[in-house]
Amino acid sequence: MHDLVIFTNEAMTKHNQGLGHPECSARLERILDMVKNDMPNIPIEKAYPADENTLLLAHPQDHLDSILDNTPFDGYHAIDGDTYLSPTSYDAALISVGAGVQAVKAVVNGETKTAFALSRPPGHHAEYDTAMGFCLFANAFIAARSSSVRTLIIDFDVHHGNGTEDLVKRHTANGHDDIAYASTHQGLGFWPNTGHVDAKNICNAPLSVGTTSDDFRKTVTNKIIPFAKLFNPELIIFSAGFDAHESDPLGELNLTHNDFGWIVDQIKSICPRIVSILEGGYNLDTLPTSVKHHLQALKNTKQ
Ligand SMILES: [Zn+2]
Repeated sequence: MHDLVIFTNEAMTKHNQGLGHPECSARLERILDMVKNDMPNIPIEKAYPADENTLLLAHPQDHLDSILDNTPFDGYHAIDGDTYLSPTSYDAALISVGAGVQAVKAVVNGETKTAFALSRPPGHHAEYDTAMGFCLFANAFIAARSSSVRTLIIDFDVHHGNGTEDLVKRHTANGHDDIAYASTHQGLGFWPNTGHVDAKNICNAPLSVGTTSDDFRKTVTNKIIPFAKLFNPELIIFSAGFDAHESDPLGELNLTHNDFGWIVDQIKSICPRIVSILEGGYNLDTLPTSVKHHLQALKNTKQ
């Protein structure tokens, strides 16, 4: 069995949201370069598009149709002020979902202990029937739904995963108790300005502007870990956003590279089966180093 496998596909670099958009192809390219240069022993497997039935685990057909219908033949279509479609966006988004689903399958089937979906566009802002915040489909939630094991999604992106919360709440309201969501994120007044209260199967830990590594670790230890222990998951899915790093141009938190490995070490002792799916992280110079710390912790199975 492998310790860590990466699922990716360079076809996802063809999704383009316009010149100067922070959610750009170079994010994936820089991370992939780092892996090939610094961590050449990690197996990389090709991610394939999810089929439409898999997307229906989270979204209604109307949502899929609206993304496809609005996909332009050339140029861009603006879904909102942040989120754009280019001609290959739908195809890239299907692969992005597929990478997470394949990663879950590989871990649940025992082919690898942990897996990382190096994918874009990200997914945690995509709600039941709304694309927003650079996200078209709910990658992490769909990955959770794709298996029948009890799954906790832990989101450390600087932005609250309003989409994942929306879908977990709907899933819970429909009588299911097998998926939960826990998030640390920059709190009040910061986009998307959700994630201030807890609910059944939802644990929100908002952080104030300037939160340091120490404060982040205290919050995870005091709030996220007890919630995770109580939920008792068989699988963890990280919504791995690296925009809470101190150098990120969008966030205002002060996490360090080490924090992205530290949180893996903490969670591993509760549940060693881990899938991590890339969300945000927009400083192209520091993003690969943050991901490297995260991958080193995922790969280290000596616990
Ligand atoms: Zn983010």
